[in-house]
Amino acid sequence: MNIPPSAPALLEALRAAVGPAHVLTEGDLTAYELDWRRRYRGKALAVVRPGSTDEVAAVVRACAAHRTSIVPQGGNTGLVGGSVPDASGRQVVLSLQRLHRVRSIDPANLTMTVEAGCVLQAAQEAAAQQGLLLPLSLAAEGSCTIGGNLATNAGGTQVLRYGNARELCLGLEVVTASGDIWSGLAGLRKDNTGYDLRHLFIGSEGTLGIITAATLKLYPQPAARLTALAALPSLAAAVDLLQLTQARLGAGLTGFEVMNAFSLELVAKHFPQIPRPLPPAAWTVLLEQSDTESTEHARSLFEATLEAALEQGLIEDAAIAESIEQSRQLWHLRESIPLAQAEEGLNIKHDISVPVSRIPAFVAETDAEIARRFPGARLVDFGHLGDGNLHYNVQAPEGADPAAFLREHEHEINAVVYDAVVRHGGSISAEHGIGALKRDELEARKSPVALGLMRAIKQALDPEGLLNPGRVLRV
Ligand code: FAD
Repeated sequence: MNIPPSAPALLEALRAAVGPAHVLTEGDLTAYELDWRRRYRGKALAVVRPGSTDEVAAVVRACAAHRTSIVPQGGNTGLVGGSVPDASGRQVVLSLQRLHRVRSIDPANLTMTVEAGCVLQAAQEAAAQQGLLLPLSLAAEGSCTIGGNLATNAGGTQVLRYGNARELCLGLEVVTASGDIWSGLAGLRKDNTGYDLRHLFIGSEGTLGIITAATLKLYPQPAARLTALAALPSLAAAVDLLQLTQARLGAGLTGFEVMNAFSLELVAKHFPQIPRPLPPAAWTVLLEQSDTESTEHARSLFEATLEAALEQGLIEDAAIAESIEQSRQLWHLRESIPLAQAEEGLNIKHDISVPVSRIPAFVAETDAEIARRFPGARLVDFGHLGDGNLHYNVQAPEGADPAAFLREHEHEINAVVYDAVVRHGGSISAEHGIGALKRDELEARKSPVALGLMRAIKQALDPEGLLNPGRVLRV
């Protein structure tokens, strides 16, 4: 590790900006230096924990003055290696975790303004206390932060009805690469005053600015929410079931998650305590219905819809949760898949999207190609079918060393999956972002015109390349 000569002066400036207790240079910094998947481990020059937007700006100015790059970090749950420093020992991790206040909730305007380090679940709970719904929801919600959600344009389980983080964001407060504060916390649903700057920062993964607060859309809490699990003979049946439920439930369909047999087998293996109300099936779908009238109304509509699906042969069996606790358990089953995969060992993840209508063909072709070229590889297919988003993950053959399998085959397997994604008109990153993991893939597959525009934006907003360098783009 090569400590830059200006490090002592920078550390002094950082201590002056945020207080010595919030500049961490010693002790166990694993929580900041190792990513959630344990794939990327870096070494930070320092971890800095500012407690206000002004302090964030002061940190950025100090780093800029010493030409030191910054890695913004929220909950460090990102899955593409974007939130941890590289191994140089020269980068500063800027943790937003101390900026965690809910600044305000405006029930009449249906908005809340939250600081970037606020954990998503805490923001959901604050909204719920006012009888309102913040509909962003993902399995990492107990640790991921609003800033990280917006920086990655997170999706999750409710996108089908409410859109992803971008659609839920009305305004941002951002510290720019030069340490200025842009205050764009508008709670307006209509505002056509030139370029919409917030959209540049959303999904930019910390490469264009540091999000310090956001104004988010809220919705009235539904009167009832019901969850069901359905067993299906095929993925094509799942697409037909999606159409049927969309036609019958309309905007009431708020979740439609698909899981292949092996993904639930893995959950059963690693978390046998989680109840599974249906016997194994080729595919299982978790459906969620939100209703503005009552539980009785929701239940009769849900039952009629599932009966129609049964009659049409789309489903083989179904179970509707009888209580909030049962509903929670069904979601727990679905949300435990990534955790079960992590228990099983390193795997090759693909967070892809293709048009919903193309999903069965995409999966059939890609499954066949993987089986032919990598005998024994196990496929963990699950995800947000309602948005055309699948987590198409490849686990090493039973008994094989997962790390060795990943080292030897990741490149080739990625080529098989991403070539198929492109053939079917899809995206190589549906919701997790690019980070370090997919940067080269993006450069190889995005059009030169799009890449040129992206580089021009990066150059305009961060000309010195100080913000999360090497993530999203090489420069
Ligand atoms: P971090 O991991 O800390 O950072 C992610 C990226 O954002 C990094 O590039 C970082 O530099 C940047 N960043 C963080 N905070 C800021 C900020 N304030 N300003 C500027 N840049 C910033 N994602 C989904 O979209 N949908 C899912 O369903 C989903 N499920 C998940 C399930 C599990 C079990 C796990 C572990 C992850 C899942 N994720 C999912 C991925 C992850 O939770 C999201 O990407 C989340 O939005 C990251 O938030 P974070 O606060 O942890 O950000």
